Amino acid sequence: MSKRLMYEFKKKLEELDSYRGKGTELITLYIPPDRNIADIANQLREELSQASNIKSKQTRTNVINGLEAILNRLKLYRKPPEHGMVILSGLVTIDGKEKHITEIIEPPEPVPLYKYHCDSKFYLEPLKDMLREKKVYGLIVLDRREATIGLLKGRRIEVLDYDTSMVPGKHRQGGQSSVRFERLREIAIHEFYKKVGEMATNAFLPHKDKLVGILIGGPSPTKDEFYQGEYLHHELQRKVLGLFDVGYTNESGLYELVDKAKDLLSEVDLVREKNLMNRFLYEISRDGLAVYGEEEVRRYLELGAVDTLLVSEDLRLERVRYRCPTCGAERVVTLKGKAASRQICEKDGVEMEEVERIDIALELSEIAERMNTKVEFLSNETEGGEMLLKAFGGIAGILRYKPK
Ligand SMILES: [Zn+2]
Repeated sequence: MSKRLMYEFKKKLEELDSYRGKGTELITLYIPPDRNIADIANQLREELSQASNIKSKQTRTNVINGLEAILNRLKLYRKPPEHGMVILSGLVTIDGKEKHITEIIEPPEPVPLYKYHCDSKFYLEPLKDMLREKKVYGLIVLDRREATIGLLKGRRIEVLDYDTSMVPGKHRQGGQSSVRFERLREIAIHEFYKKVGEMATNAFLPHKDKLVGILIGGPSPTKDEFYQGEYLHHELQRKVLGLFDVGYTNESGLYELVDKAKDLLSEVDLVREKNLMNRFLYEISRDGLAVYGEEEVRRYLELGAVDTLLVSEDLRLERVRYRCPTCGAERVVTLKGKAASRQICEKDGVEMEEVERIDIALELSEIAERMNTKVEFLSNETEGGEMLLKAFGGIAGILRYKPK
């Protein structure tokens, strides 16, 4: 999923997260892709008949309305969408007004569970989990007997391949010369490393664009031999971030490896954001290829002059267009978050009406996508991200060239 869609999804979740019901009457329904819609409708009808037992009249009415709204929406589906869906329904207060909302979210990743949930707020945790950026790391654990290959995606570990070796144990059988035995053993080890390298190629190369790095785990000196012997495809070899001692070389070893590497993994994120900001600051300091601030960045983006657009993830700026109902005059202002503002027409003194509201981060990243500009959303949790938001208004660009 593109970063822009991710940002949009995040914003939607923030909005849903801000809603509160008066009682335990906000319904969240998680439907995984493989569920049968008719079964779910039956379960909801069951809930509907039980809802008549709810003591508070107001909660009862709202739960029943919510369930009916969901049942009505379900009629539109013969089966769940590709990734399943999450349906949210309930009476919420927006701008001081009560309003019944029903929303269907088709998330960027498969819905991982079936769940019917009633509370005074919507249940959003599984959706929020999908927001954690899905960087992909390659994982290899090996010793001389077995090897396991996997991927770390976000916080999930996926096993991709497993194999055992033909390497004989350390002790030779009677009748074999020890020199010959050692020689055979070395050949078998070499063959096994080669095989693990091929397994890694098959497993990782298809993901190479998303692959941030590779971690190798195992006992010493096996993992070091494997790394130093350059058994990995050269494109993968370059991506090795570190070698770690782990006790297991099966699936458990993959978990152990990620655990051992966690400091390194968080460092990778920090370093990436820091490097981006350093590049930007360097250009600023020599009055070179850098711009910041909404207007300037927009202008350069539209010229196609921006190489990388840097946007703070916590930027909540909206461009709001107002129109005078009498003379049709228009005015565009930038507002923070959902803020409203009173705009009076200069010609006739009439209050103007809001006709359009656009999220600036989304708008700029849309232009960026059109212009082949890279987009980077920087989190506010890193030093670089914080500086972008506080010192540069949350919007900056590193330029390809400086237009005259
Ligand atoms: Zn007017």
